[in-house]
Amino acid sequence: MLLIDPHTHSAVSDGTDAPDQLLHLGAKAGLTMLGLTDHDTFAGWDEAESAVASSGVSLIRGVEISCATQGITVHLLGYLPDPTHAELVSVLDRTRLSRETRARNIVERLSADFPVTWSDVLRWAPEDGPIGRPHIADALIEAGVCQDRSEVFATLLRTSSPYYVRHWAPDAVDAVALVRRAGGVPVLAHPLARTRQRFLPPESAIDDMAEAGLFGIECEHRDHSVEDRHRARDIAKRLGLRVFGSSDYHGTGKPNRLGENVTDPRVIAELEEQGTVEVIRP
Ligand code: AMP
Ligand code: ZN
Ligand code: FE
Ligand code: FE
Repeated sequence: MLLIDPHTHSAVSDGTDAPDQLLHLGAKAGLTMLGLTDHDTFAGWDEAESAVASSGVSLIRGVEISCATQGITVHLLGYLPDPTHAELVSVLDRTRLSRETRARNIVERLSADFPVTWSDVLRWAPEDGPIGRPHIADALIEAGVCQDRSEVFATLLRTSSPYYVRHWAPDAVDAVALVRRAGGVPVLAHPLARTRQRFLPPESAIDDMAEAGLFGIECEHRDHSVEDRHRARDIAKRLGLRVFGSSDYHGTGKPNRLGENVTDPRVIAELEEQGTVEVIRP
């Protein structure tokens, strides 16, 4: 049995395990292949690669690109792209920079009402990494304001909260084309995760992404209800997209368990054919 979990996060973004640790945890969970898809950065790739041989787990190198369409957040997985592609690198740099400005703004708003400072938040964020709401949440938890990240996301940092601020992000359709130009394979992450945000991307945006070269769409994901999973599969069928499943594991920051959803090895074989960098095998 080949168990492939293609979408996970390390402490290089907002997960809590180091990239090399993640592969060993993957082995423990019975995975044969794991995708490292930190938000807006390739920074964990080398460390993850260093653990392929010792863990026996193959590595799909990827990134989860924060995008937007009509002001609505969209997450695009980019698999096996050239990590030196100038335009892709510059878009990710711009996003990380805007994330920092935005996090400062959120913390400024919060600090009027809660005992949290910018330096508190920085201690939870990766160095030069993409700073996000999870790191602000960690500082709020430390200050005793909330119990866990889930509570923070349900209250103070939900998208409709007065403390919430957006960051710059590339347009989702442009990002699909950009991932293809960088030799990568674009897959739409959890498009129907309605618990995360007030508005979902319209289905017409998914049509446009498919037109721009989208390869697949996540269907099996814990933020999708059974009904959503069926709907996502219907969309995949209609647009000729491959069906993906993943854990979107984040370590102790979220309840998601490695391997709780997986992707068909035949889909991953096709993905590998279309990518630029290799899947790294033990
Ligand atoms: P941001 O990109 O800074 O707006 O924050 C979004 C990130 O927070 C995503 O990567 C999610 O994985 C994470 N996230 C979203 N909802 C939750 C939640 N309920 N608990 C923990 N993390 C969450
Ligand atoms: Zn995340
Ligand atoms: Fe995501
Ligand atoms: Fe994710």
